[in-house]
Amino acid sequence: MAESVDVIVIGAGIGGLTTAALLQERGFSTVVFEKNRFPGGSCSSFRKRGYTFDAGASVFYGFCEDDSMGTLNLHTRIFRKLGEPLQTISDPVQIHYHMPAGFEVLAWRDRNRFLESLGRRFPHEKEGIRRFYDELESVYDILNALPAGSLEDVMHLAAVGVQHPLKAAALGVKTLFSMGKTARRYLQDPELLRFIDLEAYSWAVQDAVSTPLVNAGICLADRHHGGINYPAGGSGAIAEALVRGLVKFGGSIRYGAEVTKVIVENGAAVGVRLQGNEEVRARAVVSNATVWDTFGRLVDDPRLKVPEDRYLKAPSWFQIWLGVDGAKIPPGFMMHHIIVDEWANYDKLGGTIYFSAPTVLDPSLAPPGKHLLHLFLTAETWQWDQYDDRSSEYQDAKEAFARSIIKRVETLLPGLQDAVELMVTATPQTHVRYLNRRDGSYGPLLKPGQNILQKPQNRTPVKNLYAVGDSTFPGQGVIAVTYSGISCASYIARKLGQALEYL
Ligand SMILES: Cc1cc2nc3c(=O)[nH]c(=O)nc-3n(C[C@H](O)[C@H](O)[C@H](O)COP(=O)(O)OP(=O)(O)OC[C@H]3O[C@@H](n4cnc5c(N)ncnc54)[C@H](O)[C@@H]3O)c2cc1C
Repeated sequence: MAESVDVIVIGAGIGGLTTAALLQERGFSTVVFEKNRFPGGSCSSFRKRGYTFDAGASVFYGFCEDDSMGTLNLHTRIFRKLGEPLQTISDPVQIHYHMPAGFEVLAWRDRNRFLESLGRRFPHEKEGIRRFYDELESVYDILNALPAGSLEDVMHLAAVGVQHPLKAAALGVKTLFSMGKTARRYLQDPELLRFIDLEAYSWAVQDAVSTPLVNAGICLADRHHGGINYPAGGSGAIAEALVRGLVKFGGSIRYGAEVTKVIVENGAAVGVRLQGNEEVRARAVVSNATVWDTFGRLVDDPRLKVPEDRYLKAPSWFQIWLGVDGAKIPPGFMMHHIIVDEWANYDKLGGTIYFSAPTVLDPSLAPPGKHLLHLFLTAETWQWDQYDDRSSEYQDAKEAFARSIIKRVETLLPGLQDAVELMVTATPQTHVRYLNRRDGSYGPLLKPGQNILQKPQNRTPVKNLYAVGDSTFPGQGVIAVTYSGISCASYIARKLGQALEYL
């Protein structure tokens, strides 16, 4: 007899773990299968020679200590529910932008300070700047008043509609707008509009016209309210706390356990098959894999394969992690930076450098007297296909490319090359290998002009098979996949007969 549980979750990314922990806390027996030997996926940590590096994410929303700040404070609310508070360190600046022609902006947590500094660069646009960011604020105010739940759950929609009719209607209208088109109603200066594009690109990997206003209302407004808060001990601490919550309430996680198939009988998912052919059965199966991997590899039904043109596929990343002599990082250096050398290239592969220095907030992540740096830029698997990944040519090509990126960062940190004591690199192929993500992609993106509500929700065409994570609404980013996890858990819990309480 195959083992049987209420819910199986395939993958321990933040989306999968959030679903699992909330369902287990509600009393549904839940098991997570993760192919790696650690949790967190793109939001995990790894250790090397005394350094604790972030594998991916490091800008975090939803961790405000003041829980009365609103319903978008999702991480604080989840960890309170699980009884697993997470210590975080407040970051005064979300991102320090470095752009062509000496144009620099610091996205201060203090909203007035941010708006005033932008207004000093564009005095002729001062009023428009305030009105544009006020638009984002109005979206934030709506979202921050509504409880998180599933848009596929009629009971949830009815509750929101009855309790917040005006806000729900206003939000419906806001979903029709893009961030870029809204910006163009208030702003004309081409350089300023490029900056607005970069604000979108910084997390959405798309320009502002392709980015829904609603998403911008979270990322570019909540930074001034709940703020950006970094978990003490590194980004892996988030996943580790979710795992502790899951296990504390009786759930389990199995590492080194790759799911090879979702077992479908009579049109409904009934369990999974693991590498080695072990089968486990469940009333509901949740896939935290991407939409391409779920329907290209895990579900054996060619009719459900995702057509290539259904979504835009975001690129993957080339990543560099450095251990450096601490003396190279000047006092007052901010944690997060974005560097654009030329506007013509900012959205081309490798055109924008993302760059973080987490040790400026948490020195315990590096040996005494050292700092660690994390640099990454967009890349595609085809750029690295020509190499055998065990060959010295591959190692040499990675090193040479990494050195060329470090050189570009020297505009900020002169002499950085000579200060490097440890360098680790990852190509898009590394992302495919570690995360099972098709082409190592950051995930599916909306096409320009598509409504945010056109993003897939948690239900799938296969009965009892659900999807969670960045292939689902609302999209990429840790706070987004956390929302997706809450929405998925809420839908399944109601379906299995015991609705979740609002967070
Ligand atoms: C370089 C980089 C920087 C980023 N920076 C930020 C940032 O600063 N802020 C932010 O909010 N977001 C950031 N993001 C985005 C954010 O990290 C992701 O959107 C989010 O973590 C994705 O979570 P997820 O749950 O969808 O899945 P993933 O993180 O992809 O996790 C899925 C998990 O499922 C496992 N899995 C897949 N298939 C199987 C299978 N068949 N069997 C078993 N296990 C399986 C994988 O091993 C993985 O652990 C960044 C991402 C990257 C790559």
